Amino acid sequence: MKRYDIIIAGGGMAGLSLCYYISRSSLRTKSILLIDREPKNRNDRTWCFWESGAGPFESIIFRSWQTIAFYGKTLSSLLPTAQYTYKMVRGIDFYTFAYKQLTGLPNIEIKNAIIESIEETEAGGIVRIGQEAYIANHVFDSISGLPKNRPGNQHLLQHFKGWVITTERDCFDANCPRIMDFRVSQHNDCRFFYLLPFDKRTALVEYTVFSQQVLQEQDYATALRTYIADFLDTGGYQIQETESGVIPMSDEMPASGPFEHVIRIGTSGGYTKPSTGYTFQRTQQYLRELVMTLAQTGKPARQKTGVRGWIKRALDVVFLNVLIHDRHSAADIFTRLFTRNDPTILFRFMNEETTFTEDLQVINSMPKIPFVLAAVDSALTKLRYMF
Ligand SMILES: Cc1cc2nc3c(=O)[nH]c(=O)nc-3n(C[C@H](O)[C@H](O)[C@H](O)COP(=O)(O)OP(=O)(O)OC[C@H]3O[C@@H](n4cnc5c(N)ncnc54)[C@H](O)[C@@H]3O)c2cc1C
Repeated sequence: MKRYDIIIAGGGMAGLSLCYYISRSSLRTKSILLIDREPKNRNDRTWCFWESGAGPFESIIFRSWQTIAFYGKTLSSLLPTAQYTYKMVRGIDFYTFAYKQLTGLPNIEIKNAIIESIEETEAGGIVRIGQEAYIANHVFDSISGLPKNRPGNQHLLQHFKGWVITTERDCFDANCPRIMDFRVSQHNDCRFFYLLPFDKRTALVEYTVFSQQVLQEQDYATALRTYIADFLDTGGYQIQETESGVIPMSDEMPASGPFEHVIRIGTSGGYTKPSTGYTFQRTQQYLRELVMTLAQTGKPARQKTGVRGWIKRALDVVFLNVLIHDRHSAADIFTRLFTRNDPTILFRFMNEETTFTEDLQVINSMPKIPFVLAAVDSALTKLRYMF
């Protein structure tokens, strides 16, 4: 069985980011095997995230914005993004960038194959591909997904379909994405449009739903056509690209121990922020910490907790509970969030950088009774399954 220092199972966003950070750290000479079932040569997604200042992927930022628009049921607001910039990276640019940095390094092997299993053993993590097996001291797993069956946890799906369209008329404000547009039928879920303008005639228009079940394929297309007809003066349009996805919004943590050698990362590692589905920036933060600790101690850092982390997580759990049990209109909750908070605090809150006092200010903008009920219900549920 061939042994490596590190195996990265899944070379998507998290796997490639990890490999990139390792290649720029004091671990850069470690032998690494990175395995993905596909060569990552399609623009299969776009990532948007909030960032203050320049980040590691500055050279491949496709678009960035410093004002965003929010549309509630009846009102709209334009918000400056304070010290943050809302940045967009296209999947294909990210994959190309990472491959360019990693290909050719003598200690990094990239393999396209379907991984059949990943096992924790005393000797190391074992990754199996057909008849072949590979072993490493550290196996970073971004392919196994979140388990969905442990009781006491809450699960919701964020599912969406988007079209990149080009229009016959100028109809987009290239300086201002629509972060959430709730002027659509809610069907007792949380449904909104998300619009990222590339220029006056090109934009990604995305229909997003938070619910327990995904929709029929044609339902997304119908909603997209209706929104474009109702709210965009296109003069006709063509669909250039499509993207779709399902992101787990869950407060379930991956089984974390007592595994020594196999560590989950990315969506599989529970890096997705449960209340928003944002994963990109959290993954970058967690992986940079992980690599730093691995380099310093020989052991990868687990996801940070501490009191601050615990409070942020508790807020997410309560928020999920409100959405899942439909305790209050989601459109109204987001309208309050975007219109009753100082933008500086709002974006710090979304990036989990707020102080406890700032958290309280945001909480104060929420309807009290549904959130208190959700807090009590979440606490009782967690306690029931803890003992
Ligand atoms: C369309 C879309 C848009 C998104 N937009 C945003 C956004 O704007 N902002 C944000 O923060 N988050 C966003 N997300 C959520 C999240 O950032 C992405 O899903 C991100 O790609 C997760 O990274 P990951 O490495 O965990 O998973 P992935 O990037 O999906 O990587 C997993 C990799 O594992 C490989 N793989 C899976 N099974 C096997 C196997 N058996 N053998 C070998 N290889 C395997 C896959 O080919 C894939 O390359 C989006 C998700 C989607 C789907």
